Amino acid sequence: MAELRHSADGDDDGGAPVRCAICGGQAAGPCARCRRPVCGDCCVLSEGGVRTWALCLGCERRGGRSLAGSWLRVVGWVLGPVLAVLGLLLLLRLFA
Ligand SMILES: [Zn+2]
Ligand SMILES: [Zn+2]
Repeated sequence: MAELRHSADGDDDGGAPVRCAICGGQAAGPCARCRRPVCGDCCVLSEGGVRTWALCLGCERRGGRSLAGSWLRVVGWVLGPVLAVLGLLLLLRLFA
């Protein structure tokens, strides 16, 4: 394992390059949920709001894409009361 190879990666912080926690390849970045390093093949991109999140396959399988679902929930919180009030107004109009 003790290879004396000078890679052009510029990875000079002493340690080995960060390895993907799933396949062992070179990691591209940490998972947004569990912070494990994952490579581009072992993560999925989840667009939830302003940022694009990288989720490892383990987190994605555990319903990781709910970042988008939370946005739907926020929309529901806002629209729910509005719809309730609108329904009430409609009822009042019908029975007035
Ligand atoms: Zn990987
Ligand atoms: Zn993860």
